[in-house]
Amino acid sequence: MSNLEAMSPDPSQPADSASTSPAGLAADPPDPGAADPAAIASGAAANDTIFGRILRGEIPCDAVYADDLCLAFRDVNPQAPVHVLVIPREALVNLGDAGRQHRELLGHLLLVAAKVARQEGLEGWRTVINSGAEAGQTVFHLHVHVIGGRPLSWPPG
Ligand code: AMP
Repeated sequence: MSNLEAMSPDPSQPADSASTSPAGLAADPPDPGAADPAAIASGAAANDTIFGRILRGEIPCDAVYADDLCLAFRDVNPQAPVHVLVIPREALVNLGDAGRQHRELLGHLLLVAAKVARQEGLEGWRTVINSGAEAGQTVFHLHVHVIGGRPLSWPPG
C-alpha cells in the first residue's frame, strides 16, 4: 500500500448534524435500520463476503487509500482505466441496510471517493452504488465504485 493519506473529519464542521433537519423538510423519519434484527443479521453476513476477507487481511488487494472508517482498492475486473472500490470497514450489505446512524459514514465514503478520483488524476468520474441483485450487486458488502479515465455514456446498462 502506498501513497496513503488518511482523511480526518473536518474540525470546522459540526461533529454531528444528525439532529438537524434540512430547512423546509419534515423531521427525519424513524431510522429503519436502528434496531432491526434483520439488518443486524445481514450486516453480519456482509463480513463473510470477499470484501470482508479483504478487510480482515485474509486475501490481498491493491489498496489506494485507507483510514479508520474505510478502505479503497482497485477493482479486480476494471471497467475503465480507473476503477476503484471504496468500502466501509463496517459490515453493511448495501444502502438498503443503512440507517440514520450511517449518515456520517456514507458521507465519508463519498468524500473518500472524490479524494481517490483526484488522487488518480481524474477530472471527471462516476460513482456507482449497486444495491441488490436486481441492480447488479454481486458482492454484498456496501461499496462505492469510482470509475473514470474514459468517456462514460448515460444511461448505464
Ligand atoms: P457489484 O457488482 O456492484 O457488487 O461490484 C462488485 C465488484 O467487486 C465487481 O466490479 C468485481 O469486479 C469486484 N471484485 C470482486 N472481487 C474482487 C476482489 N477480490 N478484489 C477487487 N475487486 C473485486
